[in-house]
Amino acid sequence: MKFAVTSKGDTKSNQLKEFIIDSLTNLKMIHNEAEPDLVISVGGDGTFLEAFHTYNHRLEETAFIGVHTGHLGFYADWVPEEVENLIAEITKNTFRVVEYPLLDIKIYPKNGPEIERFLALNECSVKTPEGSVVLDLNIKGEHFERFRGDGLCISTPSGSTAYNKALGGGIIHPSLESIQITEMASINNRVFRTIGSPLILPKHHVCELKPIYDDRSFLLTIDHITKNYTNVKAIECRVAEEKIRFARFRSFPFWKRVHDSFVSDKR
Ligand code: NAD
Repeated sequence: MKFAVTSKGDTKSNQLKEFIIDSLTNLKMIHNEAEPDLVISVGGDGTFLEAFHTYNHRLEETAFIGVHTGHLGFYADWVPEEVENLIAEITKNTFRVVEYPLLDIKIYPKNGPEIERFLALNECSVKTPEGSVVLDLNIKGEHFERFRGDGLCISTPSGSTAYNKALGGGIIHPSLESIQITEMASINNRVFRTIGSPLILPKHHVCELKPIYDDRSFLLTIDHITKNYTNVKAIECRVAEEKIRFARFRSFPFWKRVHDSFVSDKR
């Protein structure tokens, strides 16, 4: 099996990365950063998101696993003390693959045919540095509402416990192929009206965000990455055809992960 290891870059994560590379290489696993079958991310959820974006061009061939060197991560759920165990499990090559849905984002520019496409593991958020975001929200080709406010967040089920949760969105089990739209401080009064509740869309229900004003720029976040755009004609979001594959060497069910991250790490 070919493996790659990514690190957050701090001393502890770098040392653990070197230990994993040395141990797996001694056990005849092939260290291959370009075309790994297994990517081991060492650090936190941010490191895991970076690893996902580094290897998201070969999702069908790659499985991911996360080790955390800080607090328990949602994706980075192995602790450094378990790493020797993990290495032994990897050499047995007996992991189960669990797939989670991703978000497909397409950005259509006003001028020119160049469409940009991204995949997000957590979410895409749309904000502006200039006043309020004003856009039409279309769902499945039908106008749903005109949104005015700080912005919108469109998240995956596994991202529902991240930014989406802080915005009052619901937590969605990743077996539900869906995306969730949550509002950031929408303006609601007698003149302006939005639904006010998070919306959960199933697969194939595309949501389209169409900016109203030509002169506004947008801050688009795709997971940990922030991009600045002007001249956006539309942003289209849907459940992606691609999925992320997690290598599971032991059971850690989603609701236990939610419990341990947000309620208590003791039962
Ligand atoms: P960061 O360093 O600000 O970390 C954000 C926190 O989010 C970390 O504690 C991380 O463990 C946690 N996190 C990431 N993905 C998660 C998930 N799927 N479920 C539960 N917790 C999760 O930023 P970063 O490390 O670059 O991560 C980027 C992510 O931060 C974005 O994808 C977004 O979801 C999140 N974020 C959250 C808020 C908020 O909660 N108010 C605001 C902005 C961004």
